[in-house]
Amino acid sequence: MLSTSTQLFRLSQGHLNLLTACPRKFQYTYLEQLATPTDPQQEEYQTLGSSFHLLMQQQEMGLPINSFLERDKEDEKLKTLKTWMTAFSKVAPEILTPEINNQTFRESEHYRTLQVQDYLITVIYDLLIADHEKAQIYDWKTNPKLPKKDDLAKNWQTRLYMYVLAETSEYLPKNISMTYWFFQAKDQPKNIEFKYDTQEHEQTGNQLNQLLKKLTNWLENYENGEPFPQIGESQTCDYCQFAKRCDRFADGRYGSKTPEAALTNYISNLDIIEEVSL
Ligand code: SF4
Repeated sequence: MLSTSTQLFRLSQGHLNLLTACPRKFQYTYLEQLATPTDPQQEEYQTLGSSFHLLMQQQEMGLPINSFLERDKEDEKLKTLKTWMTAFSKVAPEILTPEINNQTFRESEHYRTLQVQDYLITVIYDLLIADHEKAQIYDWKTNPKLPKKDDLAKNWQTRLYMYVLAETSEYLPKNISMTYWFFQAKDQPKNIEFKYDTQEHEQTGNQLNQLLKKLTNWLENYENGEPFPQIGESQTCDYCQFAKRCDRFADGRYGSKTPEAALTNYISNLDIIEEVSL
């Protein structure tokens, strides 16, 4: 549910992604909190992702993690976590075991907010490393599928995370970067890095303001009984758990599909699975 803070709507990148993908889906999900069936496999990915985030946070805080990882040698989840940590310490030792340097700021689960119009934009960086010149945002992903860089560039998480840092700090956009690290069952951790610049910063600011203005209109209309707009029939509807509610199974295009089949499609095509909040 959207939460309010001193009369402001609090919005995350997840809200903006959903709003961009389909305003009606945003309405069903956040305003009406319609329950969606939970897929056990997705739940498993989410739990594993959350455990990994917690582990990385503890590592960053200097807390011992080995005793936890060695607790049960037969536990598949612990084995996966240990494999990821070991592999990561080899490919990115500078992140896991940094040189002690008083000039560098490091914080996991770093939280920032920015007011834009009547909304409070919130971001949480899995890890922020900054010095007197540059700031690097890191994000850990444990989805089973590696997304395409172009898709990730368009994702609100990438744009918003760098935008908020530029707006709430002294760092110039060109000195901000964001790196995703992907941890997958069988492969070595892989990273995708994004640089930032002033042009992109202005573009993101414009797009964010336009989207929030639309949201304000849609919310006003919704209060007067008008639902949020639907998108045109597309593959997105094919993967949507609300297809039946939107009457998107009726015309034959989805004739053979049930809502359950749509949900299965949706999950298997997910590029980014959100972790359970810590
Ligand atoms: S079925 Fe299509 S229009 Fe309806 S909520 Fe889902 S994506 Fe939006």
